[in-house]
Order: sequence, then C-alpha cells, then structure tokens
Amino acid sequence: MREVREPVLLVHGGAGDIPDDATDMYVAGVRAAIDAGWAILEGGGSAVDAVEAAIVVMEDDGAFDAGRGSVLNQDGRVQLDAMIMDGASLAAGGIGAVETVRNPIRVARAVMEGSPQVYFAGGGAERFAVEHGFEPIDNADLVTPRERRRFEEARGRAAAGLTVDARAAVDGAITHDTVGAVALDRRGNLAAGTSTGGIAYKPIGRIGDSSIIGSGCYADNESAAVSCTGDGEAIMRLVLGKWAVDRVADGRSPQAAAEAAIERLGSRLGGRGGLILLDRDGRSGISFNTSRMAWGVRTGARSAASTGRSGLRSRRARCAGGRPPAPRKCRSGSRRSRFDAVPVKVPA
Ligand code: ASP
Repeated sequence: MREVREPVLLVHGGAGDIPDDATDMYVAGVRAAIDAGWAILEGGGSAVDAVEAAIVVMEDDGAFDAGRGSVLNQDGRVQLDAMIMDGASLAAGGIGAVETVRNPIRVARAVMEGSPQVYFAGGGAERFAVEHGFEPIDNADLVTPRERRRFEEARGRAAAGLTVDARAAVDGAITHDTVGAVALDRRGNLAAGTSTGGIAYKPIGRIGDSSIIGSGCYADNESAAVSCTGDGEAIMRLVLGKWAVDRVADGRSPQAAAEAAIERLGSRLGGRGGLILLDRDGRSGISFNTSRMAWGVRTGARSAASTGRSGLRSRRARCAGGRPPAPRKCRSGSRRSRFDAVPVKVPA
C-alpha cells in the first residue's frame, strides 16, 4: 500500500450568503470538525473514520443544516440525507429522508459496512438504523428555535400565496449549510462524506444531491474525493461530484477541477453552491459561486505554519445584481500558499 508523508483533512459547512455576524459561529463549527477528524488522521486512523468524526461534530453543532439545526420540511419536521464513501474499495453507504436518527453519517457508514446495498430511504432506513443498534430519537430533538422560526415564516408566506424560496433564510439571504468532509490518510486512502437537512420548506420525501453517489459525494483512491453543497437539483442533474473527480483523473489539478465544476454549475444550470476536492497526492481544491463558503483544511504542513487552521472564505460578488464572481484564479504551488490567499483571515 502506498505511504504518504502526511494526511490531509478538508471540511465544509456550506456555501451561501453567510452574514457577517454569523461567521464566527460557522468558523467555530468547522474548526471543531477539523480538530475531531485530525486527531484520528494524526494518530494513523483511517480517512473514513476521520470523515465520519468531522461530520458528526457538525451534525451535533446546531449551526449547520445537518443533524440538529437542520431546516424543516413542509410538515415542520427534519428529514435528513447523508452519504459516506471509501475511496479504497469504492464502498458507499447512503440514507435519505430519515427523521429519527441523530447522526445520519453514522448510519450511512453502517449501510456502507453492514449491508450489500448502497442506499436506504425513509422508513426502511430508519428500520435499518434500529436493527444496527442506533437508538431512535424524537424528531423534535433535531429542531432548533432558529429553524422553527424560519419554518413559521415560510408557512406564513405559503398560506398568503407568496413564493417560498427554499434556499432563503429569514433575512432573505441564500444559505446552503450542508456539511461535508474529504480526507486522505497515511496509507494513501481517500474518503468523502456529506450530510444535510436538505432545503428549507422542502416537500415531504424530497432528497437532494448530498446523499446521492456521484452528485454530492464521491471518493476514489485512483483520483479524488469530493463533497458538494448548493442547489441540489442542479448538482444532481450534472452529477457534479463525479464530474469534478473525473477532471482530476484526466490530469487537472483539484483546484482547477473544482473551479471548472462550479463554473459548469452556474453556466449550465444557473446553480449556486460550492465543493471541496482532495486528490490522492493530498492536493486540495475549493470553489464556490456564492459570496461565502465555510471551510477548513488541515495538513501536517499547516499545523506547522500556525497561521490558522480553518477558515471561512469570503469572495463577494463585485458586480451588481448578485451575479456570481469570476472563478478565483488557481494559484500554483503549495497548499500553504493557496490557504494564505484566503481573503478573510481567521485567527488561529
Ligand atoms: N445540496 C443540498 C440539497 O439540495 C442543500 C445544501 O447544500 O444546502 O439537499
């Protein structure tokens, strides 16, 4: 098995119009996720373990649209989707539209490792979870006051015959707070995971890209691992995650592939979102066409640099009318120089 010098962990907490006064909350959540996943990688643990651990932290955080704190559907309930994939074996596990699971990424992993199937949805997924030792929870345990308020506002708009933008927060800002992680471990194995509550005020049973293999999540040791966030219907139709991974397989750098994928999301279907991409050599790519994306990265080199290990990148559209900004130019060179190019620095 190929040995690499240092592992890499990259996580995201969604891409959107994250308001200035919320950035600390997102960065704190992303940083906690990095810390949890990194402890595993640093100790020689697997990429799959690191991805799961990082995502569990964000599912429990309450700030993100994953696990507790997720958006509510039209019934005022949380319905969760998640997928995890092991790039070594191409094993994958996904669950969709589950309501009684605290950490969907854990159940997705149980699907990956405990069944010949790849995907379970709804009641079948919940039954699978119970049969594999997960204690069912009350859906209300996943609901935060913030999301209850947001739901009431959406329901009020719907009752008044007004449009409900599934992506809009109470203040009108577009949010995609799905979480994801990609990791490379010391053995050279890649893994990816994505977890979400989907889109606000979604119809019952709607499943987005996050838990769909090749759309919101994919990993292959021969090329790269990816996790996406954004307009799920557009990401699914473009099979965007696999599209980005395939560009890496064709020889593009992860940063160039990430930018090309997000450019395609915008130009082909007018979609908004972002993705993180990590190749088998530990090179990372981050791209988004929203004004911000919460993300964090850690490598052995980064920990030595001590200039901050996680970040929330801001790249506000300069043009009027909220048109997406031009893709960020890919900087060649080390991961460190790319990280240091982050417009908004986050204190260590
Ligand atoms: N992509 C997710 C979905 O469509 C939503 C998000 O990223 O915020 O379910």
